Amino acid sequence: MLPRDSDFLLSIVIPIYNEEKNVAVLYEQILDHLATEYRWEIVFVDDGSTDESLRIIQQLHQSDGRVQYLMFSRNFGHQNALKAGLDHCNGDAIICMDGDLQHPPWLIGQMVERWQNGFDIVCTTRIDGPETGLFKRVTSDFFYKFLTRISNIELRSGSADFRLIDRKVLEVLRGFNESDIFIRGVVAWIGFKQTELPYAPAKRGAGKTKYTLRKMIRFALSGLLGFSVFPLRVASLIGLLVSILSFSYGIYAVWVRIFSDDVVSGWASVMAGIYFLGGVQLVCLGICGEYIGKIFIQVKHRPPYIIKENSLQEGTSSVTSSFPAL
Ligand code: UDP
Ligand code: MG
Repeated sequence: MLPRDSDFLLSIVIPIYNEEKNVAVLYEQILDHLATEYRWEIVFVDDGSTDESLRIIQQLHQSDGRVQYLMFSRNFGHQNALKAGLDHCNGDAIICMDGDLQHPPWLIGQMVERWQNGFDIVCTTRIDGPETGLFKRVTSDFFYKFLTRISNIELRSGSADFRLIDRKVLEVLRGFNESDIFIRGVVAWIGFKQTELPYAPAKRGAGKTKYTLRKMIRFALSGLLGFSVFPLRVASLIGLLVSILSFSYGIYAVWVRIFSDDVVSGWASVMAGIYFLGGVQLVCLGICGEYIGKIFIQVKHRPPYIIKENSLQEGTSSVTSSFPAL
């Protein structure tokens, strides 16, 4: 394994959604923990913030040319903000981290060291303490174990989008044009030489989590539907099971018709059967519908995000969008 050159550019990509009280603090913290031997840039991706976040980022950009930013035309979500940062940064090594001070900047040095020792992806796993609420700990633990079981990717409990990737991994990621991208799944899927660093997350800075329960469910579904056809298989299995039961019941009905005089009975069981079958069919249709919905969104090839302002291309046209290449 060849150690990497010490003259390189490190990009730090940070999605920001209404983090006005955290942006400047994070910038200072990062500054304190970056080594002077290499060049770096910070790419803030403003995901349609409605507070002062963008103005603060713009001020930082004015005072420090190494701070760059992309501004979305509206809120496109954390994963798309990360993807935009990855699509536009210039680094030889790229670190993604959250903008709420939970991802400790002191880990940057260790991540860079691992990369210089030849690793292409340096992932981090969250060691959950009291900072991570009980609900999040339990649901996240269950979700990653379940997804690892039913898909062909392996995700650790406490996986986060706090990682370093090498430029060649970046080029691969840029080629992913999924409408509903689940970046940590994609990174687990693409291979390369990966290593892992554990970290204890800090307390969130100011503000509340931007992952509402609805966003969390959507995020989990995008991981589940994007990496596994297991739900479809379950639907087929339920269908098969119910068919076998119905068939057996049919045989029983014929048997009763032939051998018993009392044939006008079982209204309740007929109704129960109809409701049960109807319910099963609707569930299975719903599962199929989820996948068809994903196909529908994907075939429209809408850009996953729209950039209204881009400090990395100052002077060029202001509205750009990432149109997936076919
Ligand atoms: N974020 C974003 N767009 C969103 C939601 C979140 O860019 O729609 C950013 C947010 O500002 C933060 C990071 O994504 O920098 C992680 O969000 P958060 O800390 O709220 O999530 P949690 O740590 O609670 O999972
Ligand atoms: Mg957070």
